[in-house]
Amino acid sequence: MLMQELLHDLSARQDQLIRDLLTWCAIESPSNDAAATTGMAQAVAAHLADRGAQVEIIPGQVNGSMVRAVWPGSGQKPVLLLAHHDTVHPLGSLPRNPPRVENGRVYGPGSYDMKAGTLLAAAAIEAIQRLGRPLPRPVILLSTADEELASADSRPLIEALAREAEAVLVLEPASYGGELKTARKGVGTFTITALGRASHAGAAHELGVNAIVELAHQIQALAALTDYARGVTVSVGLIQGGTAVNTVPAAAEMQVDVRVQRLADAAWIEQQVYALRPHLPDASLRISGGVERPPMERLPGTVRLFELARRLGQEIGLDLAERAVGGASDGNLTAALGIPTLDGLGACGDGAHTDDEYVTIEPLAPRAAVLAGMLLNL
Ligand SMILES: [Zn+2]
Repeated sequence: MLMQELLHDLSARQDQLIRDLLTWCAIESPSNDAAATTGMAQAVAAHLADRGAQVEIIPGQVNGSMVRAVWPGSGQKPVLLLAHHDTVHPLGSLPRNPPRVENGRVYGPGSYDMKAGTLLAAAAIEAIQRLGRPLPRPVILLSTADEELASADSRPLIEALAREAEAVLVLEPASYGGELKTARKGVGTFTITALGRASHAGAAHELGVNAIVELAHQIQALAALTDYARGVTVSVGLIQGGTAVNTVPAAAEMQVDVRVQRLADAAWIEQQVYALRPHLPDASLRISGGVERPPMERLPGTVRLFELARRLGQEIGLDLAERAVGGASDGNLTAALGIPTLDGLGACGDGAHTDDEYVTIEPLAPRAAVLAGMLLNL
C-alpha cells in the first residue's frame, strides 16, 4: 500500500523532475573546472534545501565544492546517499548536445551519469514528506565534485560519513538493463617509465640501451597477469617513447589500467607491478601509481540491501535484478570499509560519458519510489 502511494505521488510529479533534470544538465560541470562544479554545487544545495535539508557547501582542496545535505531522523545511525555533480563533458558541450526530451528520453550532458540520480533521491524524500511519514533514520546526501577523477579530494569525507552510516545507497546510474550494482571491480593505474641510454642507431647502436625494447619486455610481463577467471585484468592503455627513428631511445613510458574483483587482489597486483625488474643490462624502471579504488565485493550486507530493493520493486511491478560491473564508483570506497553498499540506484538509460547519454523517463517514478521505500524500511 505504501509503495503504491509513493509511486502515485511520484508519477504525478514526474514532469517537474524532468524539468529539473533539463535545468541541471544545462549547468555544465566538468570535473576539472572547479568554478563550474562549484556552480553546480550551488544548484544542488538550493534544490535540497528547498526539500527541507540542512545543507552545507564544502570547498574541495583541489577540485570544486561538495554538498552535504542532512534530513534529520530518529537517533539511529544515518543512511548515506552518495552522488556526484561533476561530469566528463567539457565546457561548450551544450550547443551540440542541448538538454532535451526525445522519444521518452531525457538527453543532455551528465543526465544519466548522474544528475538524474540526485534528483531521484530528492524526489523520494519529497514524496515521503508529502505522505507525512517520519524518516526512521537521518538521511545524509553527499554530492561530490571529483568522482570522475577518482575522488582523491572527496575520499576522506566519503569514508568518514560511511563509517558512521548504517548503509550506503549510491545514486549512480543503473546498469544498461536497469540492474542494481552489487559488485564492482577495483581500479588502479600505474605509470611505468623505462630508462635506457640514447645513441646513434647506425653509428653507435651497441652503445645504446633501448628503452622501448625494455618497455616491451615489461608489457609482456604485465599482460601475463591478466586472469579472467580470477577477475584480474591488466591493460597497457597509453605508451610513448623515443625521440627520432634513428636514435636508440633513452626513455619510454606507459600507463597501465588494472582491475581486480577481490580485495586481496588489490594488494597482490600492486605487489606484482612494483616487483617488475629491468630486463636489459643498464636499463632501469621508474614505477608509480596504485589501486585508487578497491573492489566492491558482493558482501552479505549488500545482498540484504538488494533483496530489500527487489521486494519493494515487486510491490509496484518493478523487476529489479543485480549485476557485477567492471567500472568503479565511490561505492567501492564505502564497501571496502565493510559498510553495506548498494549501487546503481539512480536512473535508467545509456551512453554514459558520450554525447548520446540519456535517461529513460518511464522508470523514473518507480525507481524513486523504491528509493523512498528503502529510506522508510532501513
Ligand atoms: Zn557517475
